[in-house]
Amino acid sequence: MANGDFDVDLFIIGAGSGGVRAGRIAAGYGARVMIAEESRVGGTCVIRGCVPKKLYVYASRFQDAFADAAGFGWNVPQASFHWPTLVANKETEITRLEGIYRRNLVNAGVEIVDSRAVIEGAHAVRLLATGERITAKVILIATGARPSLEPVIPGGELGLVSDQIFDVPELPRRLLVIGGGYIAVEFAGIFAGLGVETTLLHRGPRLLRGFDHDLAEGLAAAYRARGIELLLETRVERLERAGSDIAATLSDGTTRRFDQVLVATGRRPNTAGLGLESAGVATNEKGAVIVDADGRTNVPSIYAVGDVTDHAHLTPIAIREGQAFAETVFGNRPTRVDHSLIPTAVFSTPELGTIGPSEEAARALYPALVVYRTRFRAMKATLSGRDEPVMMKILVDGATDKVIGVHIMGEAAGEMIQLVGIAVTMGATKADFDRTIAVHPTAAEELVTLRTPVA
Ligand SMILES: Cc1cc2nc3c(=O)[nH]c(=O)nc-3n(C[C@H](O)[C@H](O)[C@H](O)COP(=O)(O)OP(=O)(O)OC[C@H]3O[C@@H](n4cnc5c(N)ncnc54)[C@H](O)[C@@H]3O)c2cc1C
Repeated sequence: MANGDFDVDLFIIGAGSGGVRAGRIAAGYGARVMIAEESRVGGTCVIRGCVPKKLYVYASRFQDAFADAAGFGWNVPQASFHWPTLVANKETEITRLEGIYRRNLVNAGVEIVDSRAVIEGAHAVRLLATGERITAKVILIATGARPSLEPVIPGGELGLVSDQIFDVPELPRRLLVIGGGYIAVEFAGIFAGLGVETTLLHRGPRLLRGFDHDLAEGLAAAYRARGIELLLETRVERLERAGSDIAATLSDGTTRRFDQVLVATGRRPNTAGLGLESAGVATNEKGAVIVDADGRTNVPSIYAVGDVTDHAHLTPIAIREGQAFAETVFGNRPTRVDHSLIPTAVFSTPELGTIGPSEEAARALYPALVVYRTRFRAMKATLSGRDEPVMMKILVDGATDKVIGVHIMGEAAGEMIQLVGIAVTMGATKADFDRTIAVHPTAAEELVTLRTPVA
């Protein structure tokens, strides 16, 4: 078929981080682009992920601010929190953002269809809202991921997933969070900060698998000190309704009662019922679309970007992949995404920021690994009396002096790691860090004044 024989040049399934970016860039190169969205434009990040999550993190941190104020001379009367106000204001903000995303797509010349789309062959999709069949020269799968309820817990349907927890009508008094990944950890921190009695339960020995152990253990200690009950190496055997409570029977033999249970045990690529088999698109054992370094599937006219490929489950990665796809396929500028160094934050309280391998992983990769680490009390904590250490760690390849990883726990760790990430991405050496003049008094200055290795 000649190009003109297709209804569109590019059909994108899913208007989330990756799909929206790909659509705007491809349309900018003159492609006729149609994008289908079955829920709300903006996708997980804007509607039920990064954005509302961060707003709730801000909300949760006021309790610290009120408590810390006394040491600085402020008398803050007993504060109270109104959950429905936060939920309503969050909704206003994500609706505003959704409008901006829609306008940006339309202004770029992209046609939005509010419908679920399923693939019906290498060059065709069906819009379920209208039944219409659209042919496309290229199809981009950008359907993201959804919360998984695996491993299945008997009674698990009594629990909520992250999509739902943002909008529960009432703030629970007692919350059980099941899971040990960043989403579980962040929600436990949010609800504890909002005054909810919070239990975080994880089947593994340590939170945040794959993260540096000093970060994971430092956060666990901080959470315990903040009154979050942390149950590690523990499983939920079953959930049952007990009056207005949910009773959770645990592998330690105890039964606990909660008002709400959040199941945050992982996310699975959104490929069920997508019609991949009609075109013969290959997936892995998790249902993720398998792609090459250009985001191309085994079917030459079908590409995939973002969470559906199960790469990194981060918005900036989905955006980069969407951009690279559009540059390569429609801009004639071959572009690939480098996944080797990804700075990232965990918006727990205290916050974590990290780039590069954990110390544990780095030991296997760099025989001459040199480790610098410091734990200290932030200046603000002197008068506030808050007893929560800041931790910073720099990993250096002793053979080249290159900084290969940085791990930070403490206030604004996410902001710090974004900037340190530039230096690490550029290949900065420890000597480059050392010759950088400190900004005083800050916490971040410790990153350029660490002189004595600990290992
Ligand atoms: C609670 C939470 C917090 C998060 N916090 C962060 C964070 O702080 N930082 C960060 O970088 N990342 C964060 N993430 C991850 C981030 O949201 C995702 O990595 C990102 O949204 C992935 O983008 P995507 O384009 O691949 O998919 P998505 O943004 O999920 O978009 C996919 C879209 O496709 C639509 N869709 C699916 N199937 C179809 C179909 N058949 N037809 C039509 N439409 C369809 C969906 O409705 C959805 O809108 C968070 C995620 C969650 C759940």
